[in-house]
Amino acid sequence: MIILGVESTAHTFGVGIVTDQGEILANIKDSYTSLSKGMVPDDVVKHHERVAEDILKKALEEAKIEFWNIGLIAYSAGPGLDPCLWFGYKKVKEWNQDYGKKLVGVNHCCAHLSIGKLWNKLTDPVYLYVSGVNTQIIVEEGKYQVIGETLDLGLGNMLDKLGRIMDLGFPAGPKIEELAKKGKYIGLPYVVKGMDVSFSGILTRVQQLYQQKVTKKNILKLLGKSNALPYTTDIEHKQILTGLKKRLDEPISKEDLCFSVQETCFAMLAEVVERAMAHTGKKELLLVGGVGANQRFCEMLNVMCRERGAKFYKVPMSLAGDQGAMIAWEGFLKKESYGDIEVNPHWRTDEV
Ligand code: AMP
Ligand code: MG
Repeated sequence: MIILGVESTAHTFGVGIVTDQGEILANIKDSYTSLSKGMVPDDVVKHHERVAEDILKKALEEAKIEFWNIGLIAYSAGPGLDPCLWFGYKKVKEWNQDYGKKLVGVNHCCAHLSIGKLWNKLTDPVYLYVSGVNTQIIVEEGKYQVIGETLDLGLGNMLDKLGRIMDLGFPAGPKIEELAKKGKYIGLPYVVKGMDVSFSGILTRVQQLYQQKVTKKNILKLLGKSNALPYTTDIEHKQILTGLKKRLDEPISKEDLCFSVQETCFAMLAEVVERAMAHTGKKELLLVGGVGANQRFCEMLNVMCRERGAKFYKVPMSLAGDQGAMIAWEGFLKKESYGDIEVNPHWRTDEV
């Protein structure tokens, strides 16, 4: 059987075509971006309207099939932005009008997990799902159980908000990763509460630091020194001071803040996911979601797994972020349990 999957929960409109054996025949997508704004829902829908027909055409061409060859149509029913979900749902109904194929509304988060599991041929990993809006640690016990998650923002959304503060455009994750390569560490709040994490306080602190100028007073505050600038004796502090003094009256560097945000937030997630692995005794970790494209994040998780005799798995860039192939595969897996369920913007992973 050939399955068509349509992704339209947020920034990306995608069409994927897979077989019931898990072979990906096509996975075409186009994502909304902006230099000056975040995700304005109406603008995102306009983007999807503009690209949808072309994406379907390209996907069918790449898979070398006609629409009537499709046996099942899956669409992302939630969670996501209400207008984007409705656009995707209505588009699928329109495309299917003359064919009457079975529709399966799928949970977008479960689709991320399923495609990662398929790609890496895993049976029972601990999942770390880090996308724009979601940050969850998940295990499968009959159904998916969320055993740790963010108490406020998803990490991707936090990085994107930071991008708006620093004028990096949307999405900001890849630009933050680039800037971080040239940064040094500045202390930030480290917020782990049991198995949960929280990012909003870190964002507030980074915003304060970014908007603070590098002044003599702030340098001393940052270094926790009370003595006057020229008389500091500590060698390390002296080196940092010399660097900072050259830039008096500039904002604290984007590079340092990006590096520090990455190190702090990735370490927080590595800590809770390590605890999840210790508790459950599971030996495989699978990272999915758009933030999984970050090389530094993968490196830290890989080291953590290696040190505890476990194995780290990720998905290729083409399957890390939102796309249609994962929706198609999840639709195939859930074809007996779900059907045309319209949309469900707040559908949680553990409700499936
Ligand atoms: P998703 O919702 O799964 O498509 O993931 C989108 C999120 O991933 C956005 O918030 C991006 O900023 C973030 N993202 C994409 N690439 C990277 C990267 N290299 N490093 C960190 N975050 C990233
Ligand atoms: Mg996603």
